[in-house]
Amino acid sequence: MPNVPFSKILLSWFDQHGRKDLPWQRSGNPYHVWLSEIMLQQTQVVTVIPYFERFIAKFPDIDSLANAHIDAVLTLWAGLGYYARGRNLHHAAIAMQQSQGSNVPDDFKALMALPGIGRSTAGAILALAYGKPYPILDGNVRRVLARYDAIPAWPGEKTTELLLWQRAEQLLPEKRLKDYTQAQMDLGATVCKRSKPLCGICPLQSTCKAFQSESVTQYPVAKPKKVSPLRQSFWLVSLHKGAVLLEQRPDKGIWGGLWSFPAFENAQQLKQHLASHDGLVSLPQIRHIFTHFKLDITPILTQQKIPNAHSKQRWVKLEHVFKLALPAPVEKFITSQLVKRFL
Ligand code: SF4
Repeated sequence: MPNVPFSKILLSWFDQHGRKDLPWQRSGNPYHVWLSEIMLQQTQVVTVIPYFERFIAKFPDIDSLANAHIDAVLTLWAGLGYYARGRNLHHAAIAMQQSQGSNVPDDFKALMALPGIGRSTAGAILALAYGKPYPILDGNVRRVLARYDAIPAWPGEKTTELLLWQRAEQLLPEKRLKDYTQAQMDLGATVCKRSKPLCGICPLQSTCKAFQSESVTQYPVAKPKKVSPLRQSFWLVSLHKGAVLLEQRPDKGIWGGLWSFPAFENAQQLKQHLASHDGLVSLPQIRHIFTHFKLDITPILTQQKIPNAHSKQRWVKLEHVFKLALPAPVEKFITSQLVKRFL
């Protein structure tokens, strides 16, 4: 059905398969819709239902919630996780009591000004409680759209997210906003699931680009892994009569103020510090991982006595070396390579 609009397909699927009897749907009360939307953030419907029911039994309206002590709110929230949501809920109830006549606002800006409400939650409240034409982009909808349009970039990336919002807006129907919004959530939760989507029974399969190109598993595109740059360093490991040449590193930069071997960016630079290149031995490379880069260190051993190049260098007997503050890889290297061989 290539010419049937997305919303029409979704609405007729919803009429047959959508969820229409969730506790917060029965009343249509905006307070219930708001409460359920906050509880449903990062939490599944089945988990939310008993919490929701206990919550409205104890706090039947915005005033009772706003007037409650935060401890009473959090006690009822216990077990749902993400406790900031419970605290925000209480703050938002107080704000609605103070400035919205104890009502959930039906205005986008006013909703967005409340704690714990982002663009998607505001859109869901406006559509589900007031039937207004606002898009949502929760995890389910993001996934469905990313697959439906075969969007070739990670949805968490800013420009991709904006594109998804535009698309969500474009696909909105003119009528039945409440059902349409619920339908999107239901399709994502029950058919276009995160893993093993049930494409075989999906109403969108004839127009879904990912399904049509047999590439459903490639969408949504995963977050790109950060590739940290690789740097090289060459240590001049000068060992003479049981002592090693160490230098104290500058205060700023990696291993600031600690004692390490004189280090060079390449082997040529290192060799310039030696009178002779005879008897040099390259020891096994060490890889050290910093937060922003990886460092491959090649220790080059010489048994020549090298004059100190500056005041921060010192010859230290191997048995005294551990009294100095050493970076972990230096300590490990001395223990495994030098102490074993030369002490
Ligand atoms: Fe999701 Fe498959 Fe349906 Fe496409 S056809 S929307 S991938 S369930």
